[in-house]
Amino acid sequence: MRYDNSPPSPESGSSISPDRPWYTRRSTLAVAAAVLAPTCLAGWVLTQALAGPAAGDPQTRAAPQPASHTAPGGADGKAGATPSAPTAPASPTASGSPLPSGPPLASGSPGAPAAPDPLAGRTVVIDPGHNTGNFKHSREINRQVDIGTNRKECDTTGTTTNSGYMEAEFTMDVSRRLRTVLEARGVKVLFTHEAGPERPWGPCIDERARIGNEVKADAVVSVHADGVSEGSRGYHVILPAAVRGGSADTSKIVGPSRTLGERIAGNFARTTGTGPANYLGSGTGLVVRDDLGGLNLSTRPKVFIECGNMRDAKDAALLTSPEWRQKAAQGIADGIVGFLGG
Ligand code: ZN
Repeated sequence: MRYDNSPPSPESGSSISPDRPWYTRRSTLAVAAAVLAPTCLAGWVLTQALAGPAAGDPQTRAAPQPASHTAPGGADGKAGATPSAPTAPASPTASGSPLPSGPPLASGSPGAPAAPDPLAGRTVVIDPGHNTGNFKHSREINRQVDIGTNRKECDTTGTTTNSGYMEAEFTMDVSRRLRTVLEARGVKVLFTHEAGPERPWGPCIDERARIGNEVKADAVVSVHADGVSEGSRGYHVILPAAVRGGSADTSKIVGPSRTLGERIAGNFARTTGTGPANYLGSGTGLVVRDDLGGLNLSTRPKVFIECGNMRDAKDAALLTSPEWRQKAAQGIADGIVGFLGG
């Protein structure tokens, strides 16, 4: 979501933000979009082939409001042009049938060795965006942290629906559902935070990235929902741009992160029946950003997903539905599992 640290208001778009330049740099954006469009479209077509067509309205139009997640910079046309293979083997598996250890079976039957489970021993870090406590800790979350290429606020409040359902509540709920689905498949899941008493705010965006790095996560997903104008609808997945500066170097994760993001986008569309964002990403549901500390500082394949627009009444009706959130979690999980080769 938007990265100001005051509670957003329904009419807030025009006044808020360090993010403003993302949309006001129209010439830069136009160039970037021109470069990106064929690549994104190709990616989208590929994703749809893998995951089935998305329902909803793929129509694209100019965004009347600033987008989420802070920031100047915006899309980087140089990034992500060459998807690379996922880091996991793609072989199918006979899941749940590990080879017995110990002596051979008495029958003497040779038996076929079970294929290794591509999900066994894999670690996924889930980052529930924001924290419900951030609204009460402005001083702490406004502290600037180093994101390699720049300095930014430690964390932000996130947005809310017009009726007050907080993005941070949404992200935690979807993340927990996502964890349940992944753990049922045998994946080890870690959270960047649980918003419990030990975490009254944050963590800061640099720490969120560091958590995935330190455990050498096979995939990292940061869960969000957007907060732009009424009429802007749909999901989008944010991919890391190729950036280098200070402790940021995404050169090794741009390719696999794109693969991860394409998998998630396609499966999310399939399970939720919702369409890609109609206000950015040219209808692909994919956007490349170079201004997010959580991506710039990651050394592991990582994406953000903006599940919908909390400020749009129709999207909000979905985002506040537990049944829809379960579908959202399932779609994200399916994308991750596909990326891991499961
Ligand atoms: Zn957010």
